[in-house]
Amino acid sequence: MVKAISVLGCTGSIGRQTIAVAEHLGLPVAALSAGRQIDRLEEQARRLRPKLVAVFDEEAARRFRIAVADTDIRVVSGMEGLIEAAVLPESDCVVTAVSGAVGLRPTLAAIDEKKRIALANKETLVCAGELVMARAKERGAEIVPVDSEHSAVFQCLAGRGKGELKKILLTCSGGPFRGRKRAELEDVTPAQAISHPNWSMGAKISVDSATLMNKGLEFIEAMHLFGVTPDDIQVVIHPQSVIHSMVELVDGTVIAQLGVPDMGLPIQLALTWPERLPSMFEHLDFWSLRDLSFSAPDLENMPCLALAMDAARTGGTAPCVMSAANEEAVHLFLKERLGYNRIYEAAAGAVETVGAVQGADLDTILAADAAARAYVLERYS
Ligand code: MG
Repeated sequence: MVKAISVLGCTGSIGRQTIAVAEHLGLPVAALSAGRQIDRLEEQARRLRPKLVAVFDEEAARRFRIAVADTDIRVVSGMEGLIEAAVLPESDCVVTAVSGAVGLRPTLAAIDEKKRIALANKETLVCAGELVMARAKERGAEIVPVDSEHSAVFQCLAGRGKGELKKILLTCSGGPFRGRKRAELEDVTPAQAISHPNWSMGAKISVDSATLMNKGLEFIEAMHLFGVTPDDIQVVIHPQSVIHSMVELVDGTVIAQLGVPDMGLPIQLALTWPERLPSMFEHLDFWSLRDLSFSAPDLENMPCLALAMDAARTGGTAPCVMSAANEEAVHLFLKERLGYNRIYEAAAGAVETVGAVQGADLDTILAADAAARAYVLERYS
C-alpha cells in the first residue's frame, strides 16, 4: 500500500470518494487541490489537515488562505500550485481526479518524481497518451488506473505476458438512452442526460456516458495504458455494469473482473495495489443477480463512440481535439445553451477543422486543445 496521497480534484465525485477510502484505510492525505469550491475544500482540509492545499482559481485561493489562516496549512494557487501538490515529497501517490486537460502538467511532474499515479483523469491519456506512457516508462513510475473498466483490465492482465493478450473487451452500460434513436434525443435535457442507471458520477462524465463519448475516451485510454491498437479493443454493451471489463487471451480464455458498480472499489485498489484489503463496499450476491446481458454498441445512434474510435485510429492530436471540443460542448449543454445532439456535431466539426498533428510535444498538444475549444466557443456560444 502507498504511504500518503495527494488528491488533485478533491471536491469532485472521485476526489470525495478517494478521501472516504483514504479515511477508511487510515491513509494520510498530504496534499489536496481544488478548482474553486472552497467551502467543501475547507471542510476537507480541516478534517484531514494536509500539509499543502492548492486552489487553482487565484481569487478563490486568496479567500481560502484567509479562511484557514488559523491553521498551519500552506495554500498555493494556479498551475504552479497544482504542480506543487503533485510533487510534494511527503506523498508517494497522486490521485489525478481533476477534470480536463488541466491534469496533464501535474501528472507529468508527478511521474518525474516517480510517484504512483492513481489515474482518474481520462484526458491525460486521451490528449497525451504516447508522451505520458513513454515518460512513465523512462522514469519507472507506476500508473494504476482508477477508471473501473481499466482497473478491471489491469487486474485481468496482472502477471500475464504481453503475447498472451488477444483482445480487450471493454464493457459499457449503454447509458440512460440505450436503445433510443438519435432523432428521439433532440430535446434531451441536462437532467435527463445526467441520470445514469448504474453509476453515480459528476455531471460532465454523466453526459459523456449518455452520448457514449465516455466509452470513446476510455477506448483511447485503454489503447495507451495497455499498449494495444484500436483493433485489439472491442466495446461490449453490458447494461448491468457488474462485469467491469474483460480480457480475451490467445487460447480463447476470457477473464472478467466483477464487482458492485461503486467507484470506491477501483479507487481503493489503486491505493493498496498489489495488496487487497477489506473495503467498506457491498459485495456481489450471486443469488440475487439475475441476467447479465451483452450486445454490440449502436454506433449509428451513438455517433460519439464511432467518432472516438476514428480519432483513435487517426492518432496524433485527433483524440485531444475531439476531447477538448466535447468538453466545451458538454459544458454548453449543461448550461442549456447547446442541444444534446449538437455535442457530437461540435466534436466532429472540431476534428474535421482543427486537424491532427502526429508526434506532438506537450506545447503542440496544448495548442491543439486550445484550438478545439476556440472552435466550439466561436460557433456555439
Ligand atoms: Mg469508466
